[in-house]
Amino acid sequence: MPPLPLSLGLGTSGLDDPESCAETVRTALNAGYRHIDTAQMYGNEVAVGEGLRASDVDRDEVVIATKIHYDNLSPEAVRETAHESLDRLGLDRVDLLYVHWPMGAYDPERTLPAFDALREAGVTDHVGISNFTPELVREASGILDSPIAAHQVECHPRFKQPELRRLAAEFDHHLVGYSPLGRGEILDEDVLVEVAEAHGTSSAVVALAWALERDVVPIPKATGDHVTENLMALEVDLRESELAAIDDLADGDRVIDPEQAAWNR
Ligand code: NAP
Repeated sequence: MPPLPLSLGLGTSGLDDPESCAETVRTALNAGYRHIDTAQMYGNEVAVGEGLRASDVDRDEVVIATKIHYDNLSPEAVRETAHESLDRLGLDRVDLLYVHWPMGAYDPERTLPAFDALREAGVTDHVGISNFTPELVREASGILDSPIAAHQVECHPRFKQPELRRLAAEFDHHLVGYSPLGRGEILDEDVLVEVAEAHGTSSAVVALAWALERDVVPIPKATGDHVTENLMALEVDLRESELAAIDDLADGDRVIDPEQAAWNR
């Protein structure tokens, strides 16, 4: 299997209304997105599949990623619910299948071989992990036969994940950044606003362009005009001094509830 091509993607968590979810996915694909991120947990795999089919884009041109819920990480449930996800999406395979969180029924020695088996069976082309600590990444890489294609974690200018970015380079997997806009909470940071003004764009676009320059694949969730606006991140050319100024922004708290996080259990 060739390496997974991963460009800026559309996040779909919170796209709860089926009709508007399908319409947002369709619009995003027609506008140029080629990577859609969903999960069993989001309850919108049916709508994501509908949006894909309603678009003008060939299925094979799109990376469709979904994630197995942490309650479904026994080997039997991995197998069964991966097929249920395919049924909901209306697909015969996904491009990327993640372990959503290493918690709940996660048992590395039992869960990860089940993901290998799904890759061998053609249910997914690639295996991914999400919300793993550096220690858990190393452990998973020692157990999986499949290469880890992507690790998805919270990453944005106020939560930069230097260690996991270094590890991604060492292990040669994509670091996919979720909540790349800090759920909207980072958009009034002075440095983002100033750089945005210099480029005649928005602080959201600057945050996404920073991620792309730092080898992080951002997956912003967006609706309406934000969907096409965020694609401008692919065009903006930030100066080294601007990237460095964003690098210097102090990290804050995660925007994703740490109560939910594996490292807190
Ligand atoms: P996010 O993408 O950082 O932020 C989404 C928020 O930003 C929405 O309120 C959206 O509003 C707004 N927004 C989008 N584009 C904007 C723009 N150009 N200007 C101003 N506001 C803008 O947060 P997220 O949804 O938490 O993360 C993105 C995706 O990551 C999720 O959808 C999901 O696919 C994934 N994720 C994965 C995990 C995991 O555990 N693996 C956890 C969290 C998230 P509008 O809707 O109005 O555009």
